[in-house]
Amino acid sequence: MTGHNRFERFAAPGVRSLKPYVPGKPHSKLERELGIKDSIKLASNENPLGPGPLARAALSEALAGVGHYPDGSGHALRAKLARLHGVDIAQVTLGNGSNDVLVLLVETFLVPGVEAIYAQYAFAVYPAAIEASGATARIAPARPGDVVQPLGHDPIAIVAAIGPRTRMVFIANPNNPTGTWLAEDELDALLQAIPEDVLVVLDEAYHEYSAPLGVPDGTRWLARHPNLVVTRTFSKAFGLAGLRVGYALSHPDVANLINRVRQPFNVSVPGLAAAAAALDDRAHLDATLNLNRAGIEQLRAGLAALDVSAPPSAGNFILADFGRPAAAIDELLLRSGVIVRPVDNYGLPHHLRITTGTSAQNERLLSSMAQALAKAR
Ligand SMILES: *Cc1c(COP(=O)(O)O)cnc(C)c1O
Repeated sequence: MTGHNRFERFAAPGVRSLKPYVPGKPHSKLERELGIKDSIKLASNENPLGPGPLARAALSEALAGVGHYPDGSGHALRAKLARLHGVDIAQVTLGNGSNDVLVLLVETFLVPGVEAIYAQYAFAVYPAAIEASGATARIAPARPGDVVQPLGHDPIAIVAAIGPRTRMVFIANPNNPTGTWLAEDELDALLQAIPEDVLVVLDEAYHEYSAPLGVPDGTRWLARHPNLVVTRTFSKAFGLAGLRVGYALSHPDVANLINRVRQPFNVSVPGLAAAAAALDDRAHLDATLNLNRAGIEQLRAGLAALDVSAPPSAGNFILADFGRPAAAIDELLLRSGVIVRPVDNYGLPHHLRITTGTSAQNERLLSSMAQALAKAR
């Protein structure tokens, strides 16, 4: 839509300057536009294996129950998550994806006049949610591009951005789209440096992928820091992105407040059932993690052979740095039926984010990339 919006002046002030989130291009759209079939999408950090057998079985069974509203308290899933994390059930809040939980936190705590901090290149949902609330965003400059954890969160810059009006700090560990992470000692020190009256939202959407690399499990600090909220999701390693289930672990008093804002039936009957079942499917999670580790290596090595650098990533994606505008390369990849994610909306026009696929999909990406680079020279 272009031009004047006749309802613009009636919109909430924070909404007027918002731009809609641009998701990865759907296959169907690309295939329609180019008249091709068999495109592959490595753009949205989905699990190429999808849900595991236990989640699939639970989904089929849940079908019979969709005529009824779900359990609004999500008791069974919350009880299971509480056991898993060694916390009280009153500390678990479910969301329609962790995106929902992030927005609920903002709606619960941010108002015009207060400030929230996120790091430069942090996940795009934070700035959008803050802006919509009318609160003021403070962006903590990221690390430079030529150090370890390039473009990653800089704890010193984050602490420096805290002021008397700061209510919330977002930390993505690891971060999307950079794949970077804070180590245990860095995160420990950062949590200690943030005042207790500032809520710390620690987004661990990629925790299952990052844990084997030694990236810390933030839930271990919940008892020490009542102002800490850890968010997790079933969309990434558990392969349930289409069902929309995520959750927050927090102090029960924080959970109590979020719960006042939460829609009573925000997680669906199939979502509750499949998520609970997915937690039991260790074999599927292991297969996912193995496939991902191999995929990250395959993509990084294949790109290095093409002279494209992609730093280590603790997620299921890499951030490829082309050292020049990447739009032409993205366009050539699209024409060959390979969808990746441009990140110019993050201020990274020289990069593309690529999700790990199956070995064959990664191979196809690499061969399309070789051709695109040869043409775009
Ligand atoms: C994908 C992602 C999420 C949210 O995903 P949901 O599907 O809403 O659970 C949250 N944070 C980060 C950093 C992500 O990459």
